[in-house]
Order: sequence, then C-alpha cells, then structure tokens
Amino acid sequence: MVDRYDVAIAGAGPAGAQCARDLATRGYDVVVLETESEDEFPRQSNKSTAGTFPSMMSSFGIPDGVVMSYTDDVVLESPNEYYESYQPGAVLEFAEFKQFLVADGRENGAEYRFDARVSRPILDDDDVIEGVRYNGDEEVYADIVIDATGPAAPIASALDVVDLERENQAIGIEYEMEGVEMNHPEYADLRRAMMLRLDHEIAPGGYSWIFATGEDTAKVGICYIQNDRHREFAEAGKTVDGYLDDWVDRDPRFADATKLDGKVHRGSAHIQRPGQMHTDRFIAIGDTVPTIDPLWGEGIHKGMKSARAAAATVDRCLTDSERRVDAESLAVYETLWHRDVAPRAKSRLALTELLYLAPNERYDRLLRDLQRTDDDILAKANRGEKAGMARLLHLDDVPLLAKYARERLNA
Ligand SMILES: Cc1cc2nc3c(=O)[nH]c(=O)nc-3n(C[C@H](O)[C@H](O)[C@H](O)COP(=O)(O)OP(=O)(O)OC[C@H]3O[C@@H](n4cnc5c(N)ncnc54)[C@H](O)[C@@H]3O)c2cc1C
Repeated sequence: MVDRYDVAIAGAGPAGAQCARDLATRGYDVVVLETESEDEFPRQSNKSTAGTFPSMMSSFGIPDGVVMSYTDDVVLESPNEYYESYQPGAVLEFAEFKQFLVADGRENGAEYRFDARVSRPILDDDDVIEGVRYNGDEEVYADIVIDATGPAAPIASALDVVDLERENQAIGIEYEMEGVEMNHPEYADLRRAMMLRLDHEIAPGGYSWIFATGEDTAKVGICYIQNDRHREFAEAGKTVDGYLDDWVDRDPRFADATKLDGKVHRGSAHIQRPGQMHTDRFIAIGDTVPTIDPLWGEGIHKGMKSARAAAATVDRCLTDSERRVDAESLAVYETLWHRDVAPRAKSRLALTELLYLAPNERYDRLLRDLQRTDDDILAKANRGEKAGMARLLHLDDVPLLAKYARERLNA
C-alpha cells in the first residue's frame, strides 16, 4: 500500500515541527520524518542557545515551562565599551522546546516518524517531486513536500532550489556554565540579560555571547563564518572550540566558573541571501532557505514564521477543489516570506557584512555612539533601514565602506 499524506515534512526542528502544528490544527494529514531517535530527541540537533522574545512566545503559544530564564536587557559589548538596551526576552531550554512542539503537533493529529533519515526526492516522469525516500528504500508520498532539515537540506539541494554555500556557513559552539560572575564590576550587569560581544580577539569575524540562565549560570558561546573576514583576524590553526576555551580562560567573569557536564551545544547555519524557496509541489523553510537573521543569528522565530507562511500557502492551495500545487500557485509563499518573515533581508545582510568587516576600535566607537543615540535610530538600523544605518556611520568610515564595496564587486 502506498503511504500517502497531504504534506510530508522532513525535519522536526522549530520550523518543521511548527509547520506540522499549524497544518494539523487545520485538519491536514501531515507526517514529519526526523532522523534522530525519539528516546534521545533532540541530541545532535540540540544546538541552540535559544534566546528569543515575547512576540515569538505569544504568536506561537509557547508555554512558560520551556523557559530557563526571563531577561530584561540586550547588552552589546565591544573590547572596551558596552551598551544596554531594555528588551525583555526569554532563554529557552531548547530540547524541551523542541519536545513541546512535537507533543503539541501530535495532540492535534500530526504523525511523527523518528529514526527516519530523508535522503532524496521521489520524482514523477516530469521530474516533479511526489514524495521522499528515507532510510534507504522507504517511501512516503504527499501532495506537497517541505524540507525543514536545516543546513542538511537534502531535498532542497537535490531539486536545485537552494544552494547553501560552504563559504557562508557560520559555525557555533556553546557551554552551559555555573559559577559565572554575572555582575562583575568592570562589565555590565548580566544577571537578567542576553549579551553579545563584538571583539575579533575573541571571535574573529563573528561574535561571542553570555545569556543568563540564572543568578550565576549562563550559556556562553562563540560563532563566526570561516571566510576572508575570519581569516583576516584569526590565528592559523585555531578552532572554534579553541577560541571559546581561550575566552573562558581569560575573561575574569569565568574565573570561578565550571562547565556543566554534557551541556555543550554546537551547530551551524548559513548566512547568505536567500534565493529560490519553492518549486512544483515543494517548499523550503527555516535554516534550509536560509531564514536565520544574518546579524545576530535569531533563527527560531524567523524559522517558525517561515513555517507559518508555508502552512498558510499549503492551506490556500489544497483548499482549491483542484488542489493546485504547481510552482506558480505555491509562489505566494515567497511573497509572504519577503513581506512577513524577513523584510529587507538584503540590507540586513549588507549591514552584517559591514559590521564584521570593522576593526575592534570601530566597535568601541559604535557602542559609544549607541550610548548617545536614541533607541529609534538603533531600531531603524536594526531593521535594515538605510536612514538609521547612515546615522551610525562617520566620515572616517569611508575607507571601510570602500573596502566593502571592493569586496562586493569582486564577489
Ligand atoms: C550555536 C547556536 C546558537 C544559536 N542561538 C540562537 C538563539 O539564541 N536564538 C535563536 O533564535 N536562534 C539561535 N540559533 C539558530 C537556531 O537554532 C536555528 O535557526 C533554528 O534551530 C533553525 O530551525 P530549523 O527548524 O530550520 O532547523 P534545525 O533546528 O536545524 O532542525 C532541523 C531538524 O531536521 C533534522 N534533520 C536533519 N537532517 C535530516 C534528514 N536528512 N532527515 C530527517 N531529519 C533531518 C534534524 O535532526 C533537526 O531536528 C542558534 C544556532 C546555533 C548553531
């Protein structure tokens, strides 16, 4: 007997599991295929610091039970300055959050198959996808297939929908630690904060972070893209683990801190401009697109928004009595994505590239400027609005902008 569903989703990350929740709630037959085993889920994919904001929690009905700590501020640090901005947030227990999404989807009727590693699309005579193959020769057929496997992207790559480039792959690692001095006299008070640090000596071409999870406990991590920017500032042969260990050894806030056993998280995501996201009977969501915000790596909320846009698209196409699932009918997904999920993706990527090109001294100056600037300018720059970005630039940034322009022309 042929295994047939309205929708088959590969990957039970925040994007895939949220899409299944939305579709099951609307009454569609949906199956999620997840490569990991259920009893340990999530293990390798338990990769995220999972800092998020109240808008995500309320839009997607996320319970307080998966929150490790609530925070009041976002703090930016540079080598010699810091800037605090009041922005309430939440640091989630990522594994429990993923387990909640699965359980809630199931309650609404979604089917989950764990230990199911999706490998490639099943194509009809016109090379249009009609299902997926998993665990070698097992098959599932569906009207619409969704790739939500994050950077793995086996279906989206096979269909030539996305091209996730190695040159744009950001890698990250973090420790959960205790005994961290969260209110050190030389630094900002981080007891209820998510802190991001721009400092090429610690994270060449990237950033590091301390996210409070309690009075003296925190998630402490580092990430960067291994591109020219990283190489310009990096020490030959030093790994991302080596950079994190060095920071933990040198920063006085970790003098009495210890790593929690078994609490190391690592993963990757591509920071690049999204291209095509769909084709006939197929949609890519979450980090597969990639949807993650380039500037600070906020990928959970973005991925879930892309899941919701995909579910709304599926609903519209399958409600039609003829079930129109061709590329033209599914194109509404890309319109929703650019409008609601990541508006101004191009300018935000440009802002990111410019930011990581700047030297350490420029970071100090940026933070001094932010201390003097009203929150509105910062919010505008953060949204990728050119007027806000221009207000944070100086005349002596011309060589930096020229370097950026040269790199863009050579790209
Ligand atoms: C170190 C680190 C820190 C981060 N911190 C934050 C943060 O603080 N806040 C934030 O918002 N974002 C953060 N992110 C980003 C965020 O975690 C991702 O953007 C988000 O998890 C993407 O969700 P996704 O569902 O698209 O993909 P993923 O989370 O990658 O989920 C993909 C799922 O697919 C499964 N899978 C993979 N291959 C296959 C296959 N072949 N067949 C079947 N299943 C498969 C995986 O096991 C996984 O369950 C961080 C990322 C990293 C690496």
